[in-house]
Amino acid sequence: MIEPGNTIGILGGGQLGRMLAMAAARLGYPCHVFAPQADSVAAEVSARFTCGDWHDEDALAAFAAECAVVTYEFENVPVPPLAAIPLEKLAPGPGALEIAQDRLAEKRFVERLGGRPARFAPAASSSDLAAAIETIGTPGILKTRRDGYDGKGQWPIAQAHDAEQTTVPESGLVYEARVEFTAEFSVILVRGRDGAMRFWDSPRNRHEGGILVRSELPPPGLVTWLADEARDLARKVADALEYVGVLTLEFFATSDGPVFNEMAPRVHNSGHWTIEGAATSQFENHIRAVCGLPLGDTATLFPRVTMENLIGETALDLTAHLADPAARVHLYGKRGARPGRKMGHITRVAEE
Ligand code: AMP
Repeated sequence: MIEPGNTIGILGGGQLGRMLAMAAARLGYPCHVFAPQADSVAAEVSARFTCGDWHDEDALAAFAAECAVVTYEFENVPVPPLAAIPLEKLAPGPGALEIAQDRLAEKRFVERLGGRPARFAPAASSSDLAAAIETIGTPGILKTRRDGYDGKGQWPIAQAHDAEQTTVPESGLVYEARVEFTAEFSVILVRGRDGAMRFWDSPRNRHEGGILVRSELPPPGLVTWLADEARDLARKVADALEYVGVLTLEFFATSDGPVFNEMAPRVHNSGHWTIEGAATSQFENHIRAVCGLPLGDTATLFPRVTMENLIGETALDLTAHLADPAARVHLYGKRGARPGRKMGHITRVAEE
């Protein structure tokens, strides 16, 4: 067990790191953030900040030397330079990052464990791409294997010729069938160093333009019905990776069962509701897990909980948000409300 007072290292400087650092502080742990951008909203609430390049192994080693454990809030941290950090200090381990950074590896990994992603085919060249679309059919979605997030790096394909002008990047693409779903939902779990695992209730997640806009509890009946099967898969993923910390798997709820979409080896936007809505938040349980503390209760505390993201300009209507007595307003301290940028979120809980 890593005693309170020891420093937790966080790779990545965004809002997830900020909320992790705030949860860590409540448990008596100072945080040290490592991020390449100078204006880190996680660093603003942390004891120490190293502004360094992901490939600067000396800086990573010096950072790790000051930390009892190192975790991450961003899954696209390049993996090879992490060799500069002693493996036993990294939680979760780099294996989870390696898989989650590559959509193709992720889908194959989940399939091997019995999960079902949308039908997919990889494309390393233009001719592969034409063949992939021919095999899977239309409509579909073309996604970059690497570095996609919040709907970036993906394009809907209605007909085969929509992809004709596509330049295939060196890291490749994945083409997948468009899933006809009733709802989207996520499974969020925490796994401790001893293998103990707890799940939060699965919210329904609504996306617009590939960006999460809202998570809602309770979800529709179909999601509740499918959650056990989805949890079984998430449990297998976590055990196979000997995972430590919070892990998120996203699914489509269909009449044929849960269809796996993607996983994130970190706390997740669809789990922000747990700060007010659950006995222990995803952030606190992540800190507990990586420090080897007993995990906290994940029970939902209210019959209804909703989390709404404040995206771009919507975050600027502060007076209205603050005037709503039911709204718990979280602002991330980001300067510059660009379209699509997550500026904060609001959680509402209700007794009925
Ligand atoms: P992703 O970045 O893969 O999570 O995709 C972002 C969002 O795009 C998802 O949450 C869905 O709303 C939508 N989406 C992605 N892939 C598919 C698919 N195969 N079928 C239907 N909708 C999809």
